[in-house]
Amino acid sequence: MTQKVKNGRILINNEWNEAQSGKTFPVLNPSTEEKLADVAEGDQADVDRAVVAARRAFETGPWKKMSARDRGRIIYRLAQLVDKHKDELAELETLNNGKPIFETKNADLPLSIDCFEYYAGLADKIHGDTIPVTGEFFNYTLREPAGVVGQIIPWNFPLLMAAWKLGPALATGCTVVLKPAEQTPLTALRLGELLVEAGLPPGVVNIVPGFGPTAGAAIARHMDVDKVAFTGSTEVGKMVMKMAAESNIKRVSLELGGKAPNIVFADADLDAAAAGAMMGIFFNQGEVCCAGSRLYVEEKVKDEFLAKFKARAESLPLGDPMDPKTRMGAQVSEEQFKKILGYIETGKREGAKVLTGGGAAANKGYFVKPTIFSDVKDEMTIAREEIFGPVVGAMTFTNTDDLIRRANNTMYGLSAGIWTRDIGKAHRLAKEVKAGTVWVNCYNCFDAASPFGGFKQSGFGRELGKYALELYTQVKSVWVSLN
Ligand code: ADP
Repeated sequence: MTQKVKNGRILINNEWNEAQSGKTFPVLNPSTEEKLADVAEGDQADVDRAVVAARRAFETGPWKKMSARDRGRIIYRLAQLVDKHKDELAELETLNNGKPIFETKNADLPLSIDCFEYYAGLADKIHGDTIPVTGEFFNYTLREPAGVVGQIIPWNFPLLMAAWKLGPALATGCTVVLKPAEQTPLTALRLGELLVEAGLPPGVVNIVPGFGPTAGAAIARHMDVDKVAFTGSTEVGKMVMKMAAESNIKRVSLELGGKAPNIVFADADLDAAAAGAMMGIFFNQGEVCCAGSRLYVEEKVKDEFLAKFKARAESLPLGDPMDPKTRMGAQVSEEQFKKILGYIETGKREGAKVLTGGGAAANKGYFVKPTIFSDVKDEMTIAREEIFGPVVGAMTFTNTDDLIRRANNTMYGLSAGIWTRDIGKAHRLAKEVKAGTVWVNCYNCFDAASPFGGFKQSGFGRELGKYALELYTQVKSVWVSLN
């Protein structure tokens, strides 16, 4: 039985408010195109209030004085509350995003809980160094929180992206203004309730749902936000960086788009590679920045591999995201749905061959058939641009040096997959590929302890693990004369 979905409001100082403007916006279920809830539409005025609350919480009050271990305890309580409400949150995520309940239950929720648990444990292990400088001095560093941080997150993993952002920010003692994506604000707002229940002091986390050019830009431009962490498109990432530069040079970290090569050598376990190629492109309806959307198959196994891949794609259960048997749900919005269908048409027009799929999958809801193109050339639009949907372009290669050049010939550099039984080749290639994450004989593996982020125009800064502490702390060097 599906839960009743509440309307959403803005969280500032642990209180829930309407937008100052009184405006709301509708949030839809992309699998039925029906409205789920109305949500307060925050804009600059609400962001301003949220930043004031976050600044006060950062500079004064219990958060500032709290020991790191107690901060960790609050994050741990949050992890437990998310765990307690995991079925409800998984259902809410599926309703709002269109992804299968199988995935929200088995990926989004466990990964979010792990992330909070990881940073709960890390909170009291953040420290500076002592440095053996020349002369009669004692020199040490303090690792201090970055301050008030703005966090702008996307719609593809709404709760998980909130966890990736909030975990390290809270562990380091920052305070936060979080803006969920306008398509999918519901789980972040529910998380806000759990944060209050977990005992987070007022103003430490403020959540302002709203649109990018208004609420998002107000965060990126704000003179009293010390750092902005953004996950989304490369296009908007550039705007965020520019707004940060033109306002107060706030620090920036960006996790942007991708066009990952997924490379299958003839000596690979081809069944495992076909399963990996599926995971690489059809997981989360292809709405994954690290999706393996450029499939490079060694020429001599092309037919055998593509036959296996096609058979798997055609047996993927697509349909009602709330059905536990469904493995592929709806795209998040009409805009994405149309954009993906547009790319499919471009692929056909530019001469790629539809091996399977190639269009919409239902009359209602934003469903797209899992689509494999073969005979794709590197210069085709579908091989260069991020589609952010269940569309993969298969290409072939014969020579490894040439393959590396082609795999790296992209403005992106978020991730890559390599399928081979030759471990020397796997490690050599892992070094050669210009990407922040390389998966060997696996794909889309994540762990709260392992860093994630991009090379090139996929962004900079590493989320997760101890690496994320760099994003949310700043180093102070203290010199003490010993004379
Ligand atoms: P997509 O194009 O895949 O929807 P976006 O990069 O537009 O991804 O969205 C990611 C996040 O960035 C969302 O929270 C969105 O509201 C926000 N956003 C979009 N435009 C802007 C902007 N001009 N300034 C700040 N944030 C923005």
